[in-house]
Order: sequence, then structure tokens, then C-alpha cells
Amino acid sequence: MTERVDILVCGLGPAGAAAAEAAARAGLKVLAVERNARPGLPVQCAEFVPQMIGADVPDVRASRVQDIAEMETYVGGEPADVTPDFRGYMIDRAAFDQALIAKAQAAGAECRFATPVQSIARDGMVTAGGQEITATLIIGADGPRSPVGRAAGRPNVDLVETRQITVDLLRPHAATDIFLRPEIVGGYAWLFPKGAVANLGLGVVPGRKADLKSLLVALHAQLVLEGRLGRRVHHTTGGLIPVGGIVGLATRIGAVPVLLAGDAAGLTNPVTGAGINAAVISGRLAGEAAAALLGGDAGALEDYAEEVSDTFGPSVALAVRRRRALVETYRGTAMPGPGALRDGWIAYPQYWTRDRMGIAHKETRMAEETA
Ligand SMILES: Cc1cc2nc3c(=O)[nH]c(=O)nc-3n(C[C@H](O)[C@H](O)[C@H](O)COP(=O)(O)OP(=O)(O)OC[C@H]3O[C@@H](n4cnc5c(N)ncnc54)[C@H](O)[C@@H]3O)c2cc1C
Repeated sequence: MTERVDILVCGLGPAGAAAAEAAARAGLKVLAVERNARPGLPVQCAEFVPQMIGADVPDVRASRVQDIAEMETYVGGEPADVTPDFRGYMIDRAAFDQALIAKAQAAGAECRFATPVQSIARDGMVTAGGQEITATLIIGADGPRSPVGRAAGRPNVDLVETRQITVDLLRPHAATDIFLRPEIVGGYAWLFPKGAVANLGLGVVPGRKADLKSLLVALHAQLVLEGRLGRRVHHTTGGLIPVGGIVGLATRIGAVPVLLAGDAAGLTNPVTGAGINAAVISGRLAGEAAAALLGGDAGALEDYAEEVSDTFGPSVALAVRRRRALVETYRGTAMPGPGALRDGWIAYPQYWTRDRMGIAHKETRMAEETA
């Protein structure tokens, strides 16, 4: 028998949990389906969140493992460039996601695990865990390869592949370390301290996926030699990061309205790969917009798209441009030098101002040429 709900949320990461909570709070019948068997697991994340996430997730401190005070960026073999006052938290991501899911359940959302979305018909009928489900509205919070986004014709096409290990941290550290190297094509490597351990990982363009393991082994060996990390690998993970920018926020499958949130919508920052904050915020807004639409506000979905675009669009668009410019330098035989690597990273002023400088230079040149 077909099951009927008001809102079907696909995926129970931060975006899906926040969406389910917001929609259930408004009194709607909400079903959230998640392919993983256990909430919050497996973790596929480096687990850093900016301090400002506290405004949207006040209880982030419950999953906090340690504070981060600054960022250290290593360009090639050069000493670190320190960005002071780059504040945030290293969290236990499984506990963070589990807390959001518990809030959704407390608000009245039904959260069903080990229930993968298997197909989405053209009329919007979803089959998940063998059950046919029809919904008045679908929220796609199902990550980088979102089946909902694909069914709606809005897939993430540009992705980065990652690999990460968790290892012992031999000296306490309160900075996120970033390694920019020409051989890490289309991404970067990170060392994020988490109390007595650290997440060490990197991301590259899909065409260089075969390099991930050897590059990570080499960086790990270097940091072991420097006395910063232990040899033993406790855990290995990875996953995809959308890097093409926002793919769509409000759309339809057949006559069924669809909202995309978090990674499914391409809201992750294409340069840093950070997406937890955007997932929580867009998820909550999607749940609220769904409730508003079902409550009779015909413009709710467009309002959702506008608000999310206004909030994240400019920073995501800038990151898309910076990343594309850096990836472009690999065409032919060229490898990016330290200047190009810095141009493409958020720690450096030129990342934020280069366009404006370029436009100013162009305007001056045009003025000179026409004088
Ligand atoms: C290695 C790595 C490190 C990262 N580090 C950071 C970091 O330090 N800080 C940061 O802010 N961001 C980081 N990110 C990005 C961050 O993890 C994502 O932006 C964030 O998880 C997005 O949340 P989401 O809810 O949109 O998607 P997800 O967390 O991906 O949740 C989507 C959910 O949908 C489920 N799903 C997928 N397909 C189906 C299906 N067919 N049926 C049912 N369920 C399905 C998945 O199982 C998953 O639980 C990292 C990403 C990676 C890969």
C-alpha cells in the first residue's frame, strides 16, 4: 500500500535533520528516510565548524571536542602563514548529527533508518526501503549524489574526491593546518586537531583520485618525521564534496514541489569544502518553507530559494571562480606556483579582492587607452 505523508525528507545528515525538525514543529506529518542503518554513522567529515554555527545550533557545544583559534597555511615547503582569529570548534560529527536527529524526532518527525531511496518516478512517487511513498512536498537532503536532485534534473556535476585518516596527535594544537601543494590537484590537504587525535586528509579532482592514497601516505610520513603525528592509523574515511556551486533550490518532480538543501543543493564551499553550517541553515529554511507552502503561502518556495541564494550565493560563486582559475593553471604543462596557490585560498587578501583589483586595473587601462 502506498504511504502518504505531507513532507518526505530524503537523507538525515545535518540538512535533513534540520528540515525534518522545522517541518514537524509546524505540525506536519513528516517522514525522513536515511539509507544508513545508524544515525550519524559512518562519519565522512574532517569535523571543523566555524564559531558562528553557534547562532544556528546553540547546543553545538555538546559535541565540541576542542576549540580552534587560528589557521596555519603551508604553501609548498614554506613556513606557515598564520591567520589569527580563525575561530571554531572541532566536533564529534556523529554526536552532532545524532543530536539534530533527536531534535527532529522530539518535534514529531518519523526518522526511518536503513531505508534507502531506491527510485523516484516521474510523477514524484518515491520508493524507499521497498515502500512506495507519496508526499505533498519532497525535501532532497541526500548529499552530493542526491537521488532527489538527479530525479529533478539538478545533479551536482562537479565533485572532489577525498581520503582522510585519523591518527594520534603527539602535541596539542589549536589551529587548522592547510597544505597547498601543486600536486594536490583541485583541492588541498588538511590536518585538523581533535584532542588526542587529528584528522589528516586531502581532496583532489576525480581524474586524480588514484593519487589520494600515495599523497596522504607521504604527508602522514612527513608529519610523523616532524614529531607531530603517530604512525598508527585508527580510522580511514572519505567521500565526495560538491564544488560546482548551487545547482538548484526550488524545483519540481512531476507536480510535486521539491526543495534541495545542503550538499544536495551544492551549498558546500567549493574551495574549503565546508558545508555543515550551510546544511543546517538551508535545511531549517527548507522545512519552514515547506510548512509555509502547505499552510497556503504560495510564494514560500521562491522565498526559500531567494533567502538561501542571498545568504550563500556570493561566497559560493566566488569560491567557484577561484577554484576554476586554479584548476585552469594545470592546462598544458603548467603547475601553479606559490602565488597562484595563495590566490585560490581564503587566508589571503587577494582571494577576496583580486576581481575588484582586476576590474580597477582594467578600468584604468581603458581610461588610459581612450584618453
Ligand atoms: C572528507 C570530508 C571532510 C569534510 N570536512 C568538513 C568540515 O571539516 N567542515 C564542514 O563544514 N564540512 C566538511 N565536509 C562537508 C560536510 O560533511 C557536508 O557539507 C555536510 O555533511 C552536508 O550535510 P548534508 O546533510 O547536506 O549532507 P550529508 O551529511 O551528506 O547527508 C546526506 C544524507 O543522505 C543520505 N543518503 C544519500 N543517498 C541516499 C538515499 N538514496 N536514500 C536515503 N538516504 C540517502 C546519506 O547517507 C547521508 O546521511 C567534509 C566532507 C568530506 C567528504
